[in-house]
Amino acid sequence: MKTAYDAIVIGARCAGSPTAMLLARKGHRVLVVDRATFPSDTVSTHVLHPLAGASLARWGLLDRLIATGCPLIHSYDFDFGPFTISGKPGTAAAALAYCPRRTVLDKLLVDAAAEAGAEVREGFVVDEILAEDGRVTGVRGHSRSGSPVTEQAAVVIGADGRHSLVAGAVQAAQYNEKPPLLCGYYSYWSELPMDGRFETYIRRLRGFAAAPTHDGLTLVIAGWPAAEFEEVRKHVEQSYLSAIDLAPAFAERLRAAKRQAPFAGATVPNFFRKPYGPGWALVGDAGYNRDFITAQGILDAFADAETCAGALDQAFTGARPFDDVMDEYQRARDERVAAMYEFTCQLATLEPPPPELQQLLAAIHGHQPAMDAFVRMNAGTISPAEFFAPENVGAMMAGARAGR
Ligand SMILES: Cc1cc2nc3c(=O)[nH]c(=O)nc-3n(C[C@H](O)[C@H](O)[C@H](O)COP(=O)(O)OP(=O)(O)OC[C@H]3O[C@@H](n4cnc5c(N)ncnc54)[C@H](O)[C@@H]3O)c2cc1C
Repeated sequence: MKTAYDAIVIGARCAGSPTAMLLARKGHRVLVVDRATFPSDTVSTHVLHPLAGASLARWGLLDRLIATGCPLIHSYDFDFGPFTISGKPGTAAAALAYCPRRTVLDKLLVDAAAEAGAEVREGFVVDEILAEDGRVTGVRGHSRSGSPVTEQAAVVIGADGRHSLVAGAVQAAQYNEKPPLLCGYYSYWSELPMDGRFETYIRRLRGFAAAPTHDGLTLVIAGWPAAEFEEVRKHVEQSYLSAIDLAPAFAERLRAAKRQAPFAGATVPNFFRKPYGPGWALVGDAGYNRDFITAQGILDAFADAETCAGALDQAFTGARPFDDVMDEYQRARDERVAAMYEFTCQLATLEPPPPELQQLLAAIHGHQPAMDAFVRMNAGTISPAEFFAPENVGAMMAGARAGR
């Protein structure tokens, strides 16, 4: 059946706009819709690790982000109390991290999708996923002016976040689920200089992190076990300041700063969903959601956009069958994130690190190559599987001993 569009993408933020952009750049007919209009914010902090910056660079968008005045982040500090592990998060080719406001980043991505030739409809709500004989065929929705509209496509792509309408409509199989583990609240502070550092403080059942963002502001997020969410939300400011008081030197810096925004917070479940089926696909949080403690979501959304758009391009051009390329997409995603998912879920409990990790961290503290490796692992630049491989742990311990 000839449809008006090859793909309709629902959701135009970190996963949806790049997917639409990459498909449109390949010459496919793409409609991308979002109930939001842009620029607009969303409940999310926004550390962009170096490999996410590398995606933007590949797409020709990193210079645009830098031109918005987004501060550069050259090092990450993990303060465990007795010692701090400091290192470089990236590689020679992609050295820097960023922390762009979502108002800026998402707008830049939406504009890039439109520039590539995708039709963008902002303020458009999808109410229903249409299907015939078990195959998704399109969407029914409405714009802000009201009247219902039906659109058809060969594939409907859910880039519609963790509460995905598409995933619900097709009953996408969910696997390797874990309940919410962490809850977090964040705000923005002026007069809290970070000098290019992303700082994380890990204390027993508490943690917080700070990163410089647009407009001279610093993002500070604090976290608690999810079981405390109801209690924390009753006294957000008090809970936030008490968590930060666990690191007195940072608390002093914060007291000298001024809070410039209300607190926003969330707690999220952890899951994978099968990301494709007849006439549909999922990218970003719609297909895979993990706790935000390791700040992997945008990086993962960009990776999905690239892999899924590449797969769909092969299907649309008839080079390979849809099921084959989408099966590869699912496998590549699951393999890429498997070790990071487990590491993230472990961290999100805010329980003290397992004894072996504590010993390793204490040993590598002060030894720069090993500290860089730890930081790169947390940034998603190398996989935890690679970092924790026995031969790598052995080499780091030997290097640290030799260094002493
Ligand atoms: C508290 C918190 C902190 C985080 N911190 C970080 C961090 O520091 N770094 C990081 O990389 N990630 C972080 N994340 C994760 C990150 O926010 C997500 O991974 C990322 O936003 C996923 O992008 P997405 O495009 O898949 O979905 P979303 O950003 O959720 O976008 C989905 C879009 O779909 C639209 N939509 C949904 N349903 C419909 C519909 N029916 N019709 C029309 N439009 C629809 C929505 O309006 C929305 O704009 C954090 C998340 C949270 C909750």
